[in-house]
Amino acid sequence: MQAEKLVCVDCRKEFPLQNFLKCECGGILEVSYNYDSVNLPKEPKQLWDYLDFLPISDKSKIVSLQEGNTPLIKADRLGKILGLNDLYIKDETRNPTGSFKDRPNTVAVSKAKELGIDTVVVASSGNASASAAAYAAKGNLRCIVFIPQNASVEKLAQAKVYGAEIIKVNGDYSDAFNAALKITEKYGWYNVTSTYLNPYSVEGDKTIAYELFEQVGVPDYVLVPIGAGPLLYGIYKGFQELKSLGFIKQLPKMVGVQPEGCCPIVAAFEERRHLVKPWTQKINSIAEGVTDPLKGYENDGTLTLKIIYNSNGYGIKVDDQSLLDGLYSLAKYEGIFTEPAGSIGIGAVKKMISGGLIRPDAKIVVVATGHGLKNTKVIEVSDIKNFDEVFRDDMGNKVRSDVISKCQD
Ligand SMILES: *Cc1c(COP(=O)(O)O)cnc(C)c1O
Ligand SMILES: [Zn+2]
Repeated sequence: MQAEKLVCVDCRKEFPLQNFLKCECGGILEVSYNYDSVNLPKEPKQLWDYLDFLPISDKSKIVSLQEGNTPLIKADRLGKILGLNDLYIKDETRNPTGSFKDRPNTVAVSKAKELGIDTVVVASSGNASASAAAYAAKGNLRCIVFIPQNASVEKLAQAKVYGAEIIKVNGDYSDAFNAALKITEKYGWYNVTSTYLNPYSVEGDKTIAYELFEQVGVPDYVLVPIGAGPLLYGIYKGFQELKSLGFIKQLPKMVGVQPEGCCPIVAAFEERRHLVKPWTQKINSIAEGVTDPLKGYENDGTLTLKIIYNSNGYGIKVDDQSLLDGLYSLAKYEGIFTEPAGSIGIGAVKKMISGGLIRPDAKIVVVATGHGLKNTKVIEVSDIKNFDEVFRDDMGNKVRSDVISKCQD
C-alpha cells in the first residue's frame, strides 16, 4: 500500500489512516499517497487489481464481490442520432449490486475490516444502502441503513435481502444523512455514506479513471450524475494520479449533471459562484439517486464544484422529461437500461450539443451509474396491448381470448 495519511483539503492538517470522518476544522479528509514506483496492472480483471492505488494494506481483509472492470460501450447508434462520432457509455450497471456504488463500498468496507470495526452505517436513497448491505454481508459486518421517504422499493428490497437493518427517516436525503451521522458519532461506528464523509470510499471511485485510461485513453469529457459528487471527484483524482505518475499528459473535462428539481451544485455553477448553497426548494425529480439537497454539508458540494472548475468542465441540469428521453434512447439504441439518475448524462450531452459546448468529434464518456430494474415505476407499461387487439385479423374469431377462457371452463 502506498497510501500514507489523511489530509484535510482545507487546512492541510494530517491524520493517520483511521476511522476519521472530518477534520477538526470541519474540512473534508482525503487519502494522500506517496507513490514511488507504481505499475498499472497488465490485464486488469477487477477493481482490486489496482490495489497499489488503494488505501488497504492487509490483503486478507479485502471484501470483494468482483466489482469493477465494467465494459465501455461505444454508442454508435445513439452517437449517430446525436451527431457524435466518439460517444461511449461506461456501463456501471454491471456491478454486483447494479450500480457503481460497489466501487466505493468494496474499499470502505474492506477498510472497516482492516480497522477491526464491526458495524457500518449508511444514509442512502437506495443504491448505496443496497451496496453497503451486500458488502457487509460478505464481510460479516452489521449494516444499518437510514433511508429518506423517496427511496425506491427495489433498492430497499436489495438492502433487506442482504440482511441490513433498515431505518426510515421522515424527510429527504439530507435528513437521513444527518440522522445517520448523529448515530455514527454516538456509537463510534463507521459511516460509508456516499458524500465525502468517509475518506476511503471515494478511493474506489478512482478506479473508473484507470479503467477508462485502459479502454479509451483520456476522454475529452466525462459526464457524471452527481448528488454530493464523490464519484466525479474520484474519477478526476484517478486521472490526476495517472498524470502525476507520467502515464498521461491531459486531463478530461468533468461535467457534473443534476436534475432540475434538485441541483444545488449546478445552480452555483450557473451563477459562477464558488460556494454551494443547500437546496431549499421542494425536491421535484424522478431521479431519486441524485436528489441530494446538501443541507448541513453544503461544503461537500463546494468541493465537487471546485473540481468542475479546475477541470474546465461544466455543471448541467436536466429536466425530468429530457432525462426520461435519454433513458429511453439509451435503452432503445444501445440496449442499456438505467434507472432515471443513471442516464441523466444523455440528457446533458444533448443540451451541450445544442448549446455548442461540445464538438461532434470530441471523445465523450457518459457514466451510466445504476441499473433500470432499480426503479421500474417510472416506466409506463399500462399501454401494452392484448393479443386479440393486435392479431384478431390474422387469427379470425376462433382464437379470441374469451373463447379460449370458455374452453377452459
Ligand atoms: C449515488 C448515485 C449517484 C451520485 O453519486 P455521488 O458520488 O453520491 O454524487 C449517481 N447515480 C446513481 C444511480 C447513484 O446511485
Ligand atoms: Zn482542516
